[in-house]
Amino acid sequence: MSLSKPQKKRKVDLECRAFKAEWSENYFVTELDGKSLCLLCSDTIAVLKEYNIRRHYQTKHSAQYSQLTGKERSQKLETLKRSISLQRSFFTKMKNENKAASKVSLRVAHLLAKEGKPFTDGELIKSCLIVAVEEMCPEKMDLFNNISLSARTVARRVEDIGSNITNQLINKANDFEWFSLALDESTDITDTAQLLLFIRRVNADFEVTEELASMNSLRGTTTGEDIFKEVEEMLTKYNLKWNQLKCVTTDGGKNMSGTEPVVSTVNFIRSRGLNHRQFRDFLSEVEAEYPDLPYHTAVRWLSSGKVLLRFFELRAEIEIFLNEKKRPQPLLSNTEWLWKLAFAADIMGFLNVFNLKLQGKTVLICETYTAVKSFRRQLALIESQIMSSCFVHFPCCQTLKEEVDSPFPHEFAGDIFSELKKTVPATFFGS
Ligand SMILES: [Zn+2]
Repeated sequence: MSLSKPQKKRKVDLECRAFKAEWSENYFVTELDGKSLCLLCSDTIAVLKEYNIRRHYQTKHSAQYSQLTGKERSQKLETLKRSISLQRSFFTKMKNENKAASKVSLRVAHLLAKEGKPFTDGELIKSCLIVAVEEMCPEKMDLFNNISLSARTVARRVEDIGSNITNQLINKANDFEWFSLALDESTDITDTAQLLLFIRRVNADFEVTEELASMNSLRGTTTGEDIFKEVEEMLTKYNLKWNQLKCVTTDGGKNMSGTEPVVSTVNFIRSRGLNHRQFRDFLSEVEAEYPDLPYHTAVRWLSSGKVLLRFFELRAEIEIFLNEKKRPQPLLSNTEWLWKLAFAADIMGFLNVFNLKLQGKTVLICETYTAVKSFRRQLALIESQIMSSCFVHFPCCQTLKEEVDSPFPHEFAGDIFSELKKTVPATFFGS
């Protein structure tokens, strides 16, 4: 035996639910979104039933309006209807204006995020907008005042954009056939290591998507295991399978390990405001060739190449400055170390030129292949030159050769060259 629920009693009879035209004139109401709206007091009467509408009219308005009859009554109705429709269009317009103001604030936040500007810049941008409006269309001031660009709003908008992109990526995950990853380890202004994970995916129609998939602070250690864990988490988040992973690219972080004294010296000068100001003042005082040292932003090749070059060029000034600061760096008068520094600066410059040829969205694989092939040939040529102490392509080494008597460290350079050859795939070798 089954128990059936007792049928719920219908509160409203369906047949009474149609708004009848004569109610308008009888009770000063109009239909709005399936309800009836009293034109006199703007109350809505939830139930579309003559009984309810009549009761509302009789209790609230009939004393005042029942003497209106005939033409007077229809005129009153028309006036009320017109004013309500004006009101409604005003509200719709206001809603659209708010929508436009929100859109402006969202797009400005997007621009700020793309340019890497601080969220607080939103306030400055708003002031600029207001200045422009004051001069050009002061009557529209209210519209522009509505745009919210406070630091909090901008931060929230950027967060919204970020999670929107993440969701888009997750939604697309099922379409993708293959993907590749690029890992970049970088340090932010507080010297915290950040692991950046870029993902490039291709679907069956050869549509390619590239996106920064995650950025995570690596606190404490940055071992291979830590990085692997980050990658694994990211794959889970985006619902990606290991067997679809075709390629992993990392930067050449380890190559910088021999130049640690450079990094720590640059950081000593650049990361402390007072030191940095004093250093710049000192450079302008001695009329140094360059006004400043670039900040060591990362273990990135391009950045480190520039830092090494400038460090080499300013080595004499840096030595004097550090001595004055009572923080001498004895390596700066060690000719063997200076040779290594000069060689590192030159080889990094050489690699940067090559590196740049491999970058860019429109670089085709065949162009990359050609670049790698010619790089190998150049590398062989340069190696034979360097090994016979000919520095035509190595300006820092050339400079140092004229300054010091100690010999070029051939063994050191030879090791670097053989390491470099290993990093370029064997298939390219000799071809
Ligand atoms: Zn009313």
